[in-house]
Amino acid sequence: MRFDVVTIFPETFPGVLESGLSGQALINRTIEIYCHNPRDFTSDKHRSVDDAPFGGGAGMLMKPAPLFECIEHMGQPRPFVVLLSPQGIPFNQKLARSFVDQYDRIAFICGRYEGVDERVRTNLVDMDVSIGDFVLSGGEIAAMAIIETLTRLIPGVVGNQESLTHESLENNLLKYPQYTRPRNYRGLKVPDVLLSGNHALIDKWRQEQSRLRTQTRRPDLFTCNQMNKNDKYPIASDGANDGEKNKESE
Ligand code: SAM
Repeated sequence: MRFDVVTIFPETFPGVLESGLSGQALINRTIEIYCHNPRDFTSDKHRSVDDAPFGGGAGMLMKPAPLFECIEHMGQPRPFVVLLSPQGIPFNQKLARSFVDQYDRIAFICGRYEGVDERVRTNLVDMDVSIGDFVLSGGEIAAMAIIETLTRLIPGVVGNQESLTHESLENNLLKYPQYTRPRNYRGLKVPDVLLSGNHALIDKWRQEQSRLRTQTRRPDLFTCNQMNKNDKYPIASDGANDGEKNKESE
């Protein structure tokens, strides 16, 4: 999968993407990242990409021309063009999957200043996407977050595909609580069921915990969760505090 990043700060890439799974994907060219600087598509001696907003107001806006010309320079077929914006469609795991299923090349326009001229959004961009209800100073971190999320979903990047299907937010569920060695850390014990060796019981416990955790922490996800329709298992206790509950009594 190829990612084209339009940014006035190309030196920030690949940044954190150089580490871990995405770093490996870059090395073996499962993903490729190319940066394009809109300043290379300006003609004035200051290479200016911003200007004051018509009608007045605070700050500067990214001008349309360098962004249009930068995307047009990418040639045909044109990549799917995403504008990073706090006003965009909320990015989530479902949208990530649909990107990976549909596109092998995506361009990200990283805004700066007060954002971009509206004609970029209405006439150049295929989708504007937000990574959350907060305002960053630029789209670069948002682009990195999306690229890392998409990279994990490319077949072969995550060694064990099972870890993807049971990951938080797949099927609108949060993952069940997990524990590793030691069995007892400072009196905080791992729930007995996980040490039982009974895999049917462990699966049942994990499903219950996953549903309970989603219901208590993300009721918005829980209400649209298809699993609710087949209420197979009643909800037991909140696994979030199991460590505390299992604390050895003195
Ligand atoms: N003035 C703009 C507004 O009120 O909508 C915010 C501009 S923000 C300071 C500068 C750039 O950061 C945006 O153009 C966008 O590219 C990026 N950005 C900020 N928050 C973002 C978010 N939550 N998701 C995606 N991109 C974001």
